[in-house]
Amino acid sequence: MKSIKNESPAQCPNHCEPFDVEYWSLVRADQDPDLKTAIMGGELNLVQCPECGTFFHHDGDLIYFDQPSELLVFVFSEKDRQREPELLARMQHDYELIKNTLLKQLNMDYPPLSVFGLEALKKVLESEETVGYESEVIAASAAEKGLSVARLKPSYARAHHFPYYVPAPAHPQTANDYAVAAAKVLHGGLNSLLLRNFLDKMSEDGAELPKTL
Ligand SMILES: [Zn+2]
Repeated sequence: MKSIKNESPAQCPNHCEPFDVEYWSLVRADQDPDLKTAIMGGELNLVQCPECGTFFHHDGDLIYFDQPSELLVFVFSEKDRQREPELLARMQHDYELIKNTLLKQLNMDYPPLSVFGLEALKKVLESEETVGYESEVIAASAAEKGLSVARLKPSYARAHHFPYYVPAPAHPQTANDYAVAAAKVLHGGLNSLLLRNFLDKMSEDGAELPKTL
């Protein structure tokens, strides 16, 4: 599944005559990092009205997909916000379809996210970036303590507000072994809410082993 451009009429916010634009309707971020950069910079699907010269974002539906990050986001048009229940039902249907056809070989086992508008997508990506940086610091701190590092399954980590990397015990038998390893790094002076949350959840009674890659 590759990035796709669509064509549709765009409506200038100054109520000029509609005009046809080409816009990205599917962004395969892991294959086209430039498109991800454009989203972060607010340039994706930015068009200019030929009549009055105003720049604006074409508000078309978009699917954002980053396979290694296990991130699939359906971006709906801002103006459709009041149709959310209907759109979520359609998303579920489209997701099943994509999962079983275009992306069948990937064995997707994580649910899609949904947002309204490119600005909201940008926020999701910024938050991903922040978690990514914090995870790298955790991995470096774990290595400093002589611990190995485990990579959590990204969609699992995201759903639980865990970091993407955690300190790993040498021979993990239980979730609590992970809690002990996390405590070693946190007691070493690292300030990380994500790792703290991971520690708390791993030390709960009956906690299951984390999903690692
Ligand atoms: Zn205009």
